[in-house]
Amino acid sequence: MLAVLGSMKGENSREERRSKEEKRSREERRLIEERRLIEEKRLIEERRLIEERRLIEERRLIEERRLMEEKRLIEERRLIEENRLMEEKYFMESLLSVEKAKCKEFERLIPGFIARKLDFPTLSGFYEHWEACDECKEELSIQYLVREGMQRLEEGSAFDLQSELDQRLEEARRKINSHSAFLYLGMTMEIMVSCLLVWVFVWILL
Ligand SMILES: [Zn+2]
Repeated sequence: MLAVLGSMKGENSREERRSKEEKRSREERRLIEERRLIEEKRLIEERRLIEERRLIEERRLIEERRLMEEKRLIEERRLIEENRLMEEKYFMESLLSVEKAKCKEFERLIPGFIARKLDFPTLSGFYEHWEACDECKEELSIQYLVREGMQRLEEGSAFDLQSELDQRLEEARRKINSHSAFLYLGMTMEIMVSCLLVWVFVWILL
């Protein structure tokens, strides 16, 4: 009886141990699974953070590049504008110096004009500048009044120098016009003669 009881007791305690062990191992598996899940979540979160940082960095780089490009464009436009202004200034200066040189040349020719000593091309240039430049118009009037006025005072004759000057300019204009017409006529004649010669040449050949 005792032996039976003893063996039963032994059986019971074995059963108990077994179930305890099972429970322990279940608990262990649960813990392992739990840790695994935690680790997985941690990894996912880490990856998410890395991706987020990557995106932020990417956006920062894009923005940086955009700003640099903008700066470059602004600088480029500034340089173009600067160049344009420089060129404009240079052009105006050279134009001004050319005009000044023309005025000086005009002034130098005034005595020759008054003395009717200018040849045709010079007279033509002189008249052209006179038409275009108010300052030189005034200069010519003054010099004409002074030079001719002194002469007339010495001679003691009556005079209207301004209308005399106007007449002289009109005379120059007519001279230029007739000269141009003459040149044109000459050119036309030359062309006609050339045509005639070609025609005669062709006629002889045929
Ligand atoms: Zn002038």
